[in-house]
Amino acid sequence: MTATFRTFVRAALAALAMGGVSADAVAEPLAKDLFGAMTLPAATAPKSYGFYSKGCFSGGVAIATDGPNWQAMRLSRNRRWGHPALVNLIEKFSRDAAADGWPGLLIGDLSQPRGGPMLTGHASHQIGLDADIWLTPMPGRTLSASEREKMSATLMVNPKTHLVYDNRWTPAHAQLIRRAASYPEVERILVNPGIKKKLCDTVTGDRSWLRKVRPFWGHDYHMHVRIGCQPGSVGCKGQADVAQGDGCDKSLAWWFTDEPWRPNKDPDKPKARDVMKLSSLPAACAAVLDAPSPVSEAAVTVRGRGQAPMLATTPAEPQVTASAFAGEVPLDRVPVPMFRPDPNR
Ligand SMILES: [Zn+2]
Repeated sequence: MTATFRTFVRAALAALAMGGVSADAVAEPLAKDLFGAMTLPAATAPKSYGFYSKGCFSGGVAIATDGPNWQAMRLSRNRRWGHPALVNLIEKFSRDAAADGWPGLLIGDLSQPRGGPMLTGHASHQIGLDADIWLTPMPGRTLSASEREKMSATLMVNPKTHLVYDNRWTPAHAQLIRRAASYPEVERILVNPGIKKKLCDTVTGDRSWLRKVRPFWGHDYHMHVRIGCQPGSVGCKGQADVAQGDGCDKSLAWWFTDEPWRPNKDPDKPKARDVMKLSSLPAACAAVLDAPSPVSEAAVTVRGRGQAPMLATTPAEPQVTASAFAGEVPLDRVPVPMFRPDPNR
C-alpha cells in the first residue's frame, strides 16, 4: 500500500468516524489537508511543481529559527520551508541587509514542508519560492517562542488613506526593499500600494529596481519576496514578466481609486484551497506526498554563513513525466474572489 493510499484511507476513516460526510468528501480529501499534515519535506531532489498558487515542491530545506542576522516568527506554523535557492537567498539577504544597517530580518512564512495549499492564510507560497519578510527591524535580543507567536508586526500603511505612516517609514525600509530587489533570482516583491507609492515618490537615482516592486492588497507589515522557477524544475510554471517601466503610473493610480477596495460581491464563494483536491495539482505532487522524509529536521536546516545542509537521503529523480500537468484545471477556472484581479500581478 503506498503512502498516498494510506493517507487516503486514513482521511476516509477519519471522515467516516466524524459521520455525516458525503461520499464525495470521502472519495478525495482536500489537498490542503494532505499537505498541511506534512511535518518534514520530501527528501528528493529540489524541484517545484506547478504554479505559486497551485503546486508543491520536493527537496525542501528549512531556514533555522535563529541565524546570525535573522529570527523566524510564528514557529508553530511550520512554514520555514523552501527550495534551497530561496532559503540560501534569504540567508544572503540577511547578511547584506545587516551590512546595509538593518538590524536583522524577522522572517514570516515561507512554505509548508512539501508546499501545497495551506489550511489558513496565503493563496500562494505553494512551491517553495515565496517568502514573507517583516518590515519591522529585528530586536537586539532573542525573542521567546511565545513572543514569536504573539508579537505584532508594525503596520506601515494607514488603512483609510492607503498611504504609509510617515512617522514609521524610514530610508532604511526603502533600502531593505531595494536590496531584496537587487538579486537576479527575485522576480517580484509584493508590497502594499501605499509602500509602492512612497518608493515612487522618494527614490532617486537608479529607479529600475522599482519595476519588481508590485502593489497588492495586504502586505502592509511585510514584503513578499518571490523568486523565479529554478533550474531543474521542469514542472515549474513561471510567471509572466513584469511590465516594463517603474510601475509608478496609472496602474498604481488605480489603487488610489475606490474600485480595488469595494466589498467582495460574492463573499460566500469558496476559496481555492477549500475546493482544491490533490488531483487538481500537478500529478507529481502525489509522488511528493509519498516521498521519504529526511532523518530529521536538523539534517535539512540552513543555519547561516552560506552553509548548505546535507540531504539526509540520496536525492532521487522523482517520477515526473510529460503528462505531469495532464488533466489539470486551467488557472482561470480556479475559484478566486471575483473582485480581485490576478493575485500575481
Ligand atoms: Zn506572502
